[in-house]
Amino acid sequence: MNRERRRVGVLGATGAVGQRFVQLLDNHPWFEVTALAASTRSSGRPFGQACHWVLDTPMPEWARDLDVLPASPDADLDCQLLFSALPGDLAKDVEEAFAQAGYAVCSNASAHRMDEDVPLIIPEVNADHLQLITTQRQKRNWPGLIITAANCSTTHLALALKPLHDAFGLTQVNVVTMQAISGAGYPGVPSLDILGNVIPFISGEEEKLEAETRKLLGPLEEGKVRQANLVISAQCNRVPVLDGHMECVSAKFFRPAPMDEIKRALAGFQALQELDLPSAPPYPIIVTEAPDRPQPRLDRDVAKGMTTVVGRIRPCPLLDVRLVLLGHNTLRGAAGGAILNAELLVAQGWVD
Ligand code: NAP
Repeated sequence: MNRERRRVGVLGATGAVGQRFVQLLDNHPWFEVTALAASTRSSGRPFGQACHWVLDTPMPEWARDLDVLPASPDADLDCQLLFSALPGDLAKDVEEAFAQAGYAVCSNASAHRMDEDVPLIIPEVNADHLQLITTQRQKRNWPGLIITAANCSTTHLALALKPLHDAFGLTQVNVVTMQAISGAGYPGVPSLDILGNVIPFISGEEEKLEAETRKLLGPLEEGKVRQANLVISAQCNRVPVLDGHMECVSAKFFRPAPMDEIKRALAGFQALQELDLPSAPPYPIIVTEAPDRPQPRLDRDVAKGMTTVVGRIRPCPLLDVRLVLLGHNTLRGAAGGAILNAELLVAQGWVD
């Protein structure tokens, strides 16, 4: 494998997720950022001026001086691989145009996640779904490719469910989320709406959690993903937390699932360690026995925000088991997840 640093770009670089890409790609061993793109509000200006940086590490020096480009293949971005943090409605056409122009697009946007020929990937969950790229290229007749990372809440739910589904066969899942403000982008939810409050509605989120989880956990058969045969009920809430989505989950299984075996399946879960992907955590799931954890402020940055922390695992009087999980929404749940996907693309030879 050619492991020289590849030139990469970020679409939507000035936004909440775009900034995370810039932060995480600083000194990345496999990738070097050579292009940053955003809307006409930002393009033509140095990134240091165009971007209202909201992260708690300084903006990298190299990013400060890069001129922001328009998010269009006509801008001739000097890179092979693109990370997309564009708004969902815009991403559909723009990402397709870039794939048509030969770029490999690793997207965080929802636009293509449920397309039959687009892999929706969490490396430890369904790396084999990358095979859909072959179908995609035949069907769309383009030299590039599009792969997608899952919705931020879905990512952590699917990671936690994967070892349980493999071991015991899930049949029903009920999930109630408490989602951080940064999940709504920048500037996002007005402070007067969210401070001291909970908003029991996030547009499109419950549908995404239900549909994406079934695609992620479904088997690849004859070049297609068959959705996992699993009923999921999701309720999503926005809460006044800066970063970190928490989810209360109850699940029912096909086979008997003793609590100690559930804990072992979660804590021992590992996948793809042999690929040595730079952004992969040693264990994708950390199990905590503390009665009052996980908590967003205390646990979202475990393993650099790339892991799902699971606690309060106990029997459920309605279904079989209940637990609480927590994960960082803009790290593993967005930019970090898409970077891990790109590392998988490289490791498996899908990009030169
Ligand atoms: P955001 O903070 O609103 O950022 C949007 C970015 O897109 C900005 O860089 C903006 O550039 C750019 N943009 C807007 N309109 C554009 C246009 N017409 N042409 C080109 N660029 C345009 O949103 P975000 O939270 O970062 O989310 C980005 C994507 O990631 C969304 O699809 C979202 O659903 C997805 N996502 C977000 C999270 C999360 O936790 N936030 C998690 C998973 C997935 P300007 O600054 O120039 O306006």
